[in-house]
Amino acid sequence: MKIHEYQAKNLFSFYGIPVEQHILCHNEDEALLAYTELRMEKVMIKAQVLTGGRGKAGGVKTARNADEVMNYTRSMLQMKINELPVTRVLVSEAVNIDSEFYLSFSIDRKNRSVIMMLSSEGGVEIEDVAKYAPENIYRINIDPFIGMPDYVARRIAFFLFDDMDLVNQMVQILQNLYQLFIDKDASLAEINPLVLTEEGNLIALDAKMTFDDYALYRQEDICFFSEPTEEEEMELQAKAKGFNYVCLTGDIGCMVNGAGLAMATMDMIKLNEGCPANFLDIGGSSNPKKITEAMKILLQDDRVKVILVNIFGGITRCDDVANGLLNACELLHADIPVIVRLTGTNEDEAKLLLRTSNFLVANTMNEAVRMAVIQSIKAG
Ligand code: GDP
Ligand code: MN
Repeated sequence: MKIHEYQAKNLFSFYGIPVEQHILCHNEDEALLAYTELRMEKVMIKAQVLTGGRGKAGGVKTARNADEVMNYTRSMLQMKINELPVTRVLVSEAVNIDSEFYLSFSIDRKNRSVIMMLSSEGGVEIEDVAKYAPENIYRINIDPFIGMPDYVARRIAFFLFDDMDLVNQMVQILQNLYQLFIDKDASLAEINPLVLTEEGNLIALDAKMTFDDYALYRQEDICFFSEPTEEEEMELQAKAKGFNYVCLTGDIGCMVNGAGLAMATMDMIKLNEGCPANFLDIGGSSNPKKITEAMKILLQDDRVKVILVNIFGGITRCDDVANGLLNACELLHADIPVIVRLTGTNEDEAKLLLRTSNFLVANTMNEAVRMAVIQSIKAG
């Protein structure tokens, strides 16, 4: 799960990591008020959006008077960055930058530990530094049993600074950021840029954090920051009901069992020049009630013009699935075409059950996919 810069900066402040003064604003009036409150001539306006590349997209601007504050805020609030609308901006103190650094903690799966990355080339994309000047990135794996005691933090800090005051500031930032990372089950904590101001202070000028979704059950305060998109919302609802559900961009809703069959179904649809709207994996169960629930989820998405049910019955019993589908049909009054291909355990019983229904029954996967694509073309 990602959080906004302002949310990450709140966490930073709580953990004693210095950030610049900032005020969150939802409209021009709030921005103007924030500008007066900050009592500074020069401020930064920063779009808050859960995606990278904000600066390049025009989402970071320096404003030098009240008019600029209003104008930049207005135009940013009309912007979309990577398809995501900007609904808030941060009005913040413009800092006098002496130099910019990069600092992050993330998970190194290969070494099964947290990895710290540090670079004197901050403010630019770290991927570019990794490509063109990899020697300028200092990496160190953090031993989970040792963590970030003074001597480790000091050794790292000396990599950037030899002035003792700066080393001490850096040690605090390293220890606090590491603690925050561990406490909150983060998968990334990144400060880019970490700046040295002309006044000699180290400040986190940007803040990016993501958290392990599987640990959210024990991170109540982090869950509070959650802002799922409409699609993520649907995926979460499905997950709560025990389904794996993935939103895609097309118009064919797919009910399958097993990830492998899901992938094969997606491939076949694409091969036939159709486009899946999603796939919903019912897993191993074939409880008719669950099938009805699954249909409900598929029908919720109004982009879905056709439903393709592709089930391979092993433990899953085809007649159970058929009963669930019939049940769903009665309950939900779906008026879109539903193509059904059931094969395996109790296949014949299933076909018998579906004989008098409105479902379009196919005998093979190929046939089913073709029927689905044809129906989607008709509907479109
Ligand atoms: P990003 O594009 O989303 O990473 O946005 P950042 O918040 O990291 O800002 C991008 C760049 O804008 C930074 O690397 C700085 O060079 C510049 N910048 C941001 N805030 C300030 C500031 O307060 N003062 C100055 N002088 N530059 C800033
Ligand atoms: Mn940045």
